Amino acid sequence: MAYKIKFNEEECIGCGACVAVCGENWELKDGKAHPKKTEVEEKGCNEDAAETCPMNCISIEEV
Ligand code: SF4
Repeated sequence: MAYKIKFNEEECIGCGACVAVCGENWELKDGKAHPKKTEVEEKGCNEDAAETCPMNCISIEEV
């Protein structure tokens, strides 16, 4: 199973919550979050990042 990480950069307020729970795949650059990988084999902590994001700008899709 593989997953695609979808991220709405427009909505991101750069709060860093996703980085706090999932630094493995999320980093802050110029005041916005960025996923290091957008295709992953396991959801891993990306699921926590999606749940914790106050703007709901992270979602995970099966591919
Ligand atoms: S938790 Fe959401 S709003 Fe906050 S930095 Fe991450 S993607 Fe942006």
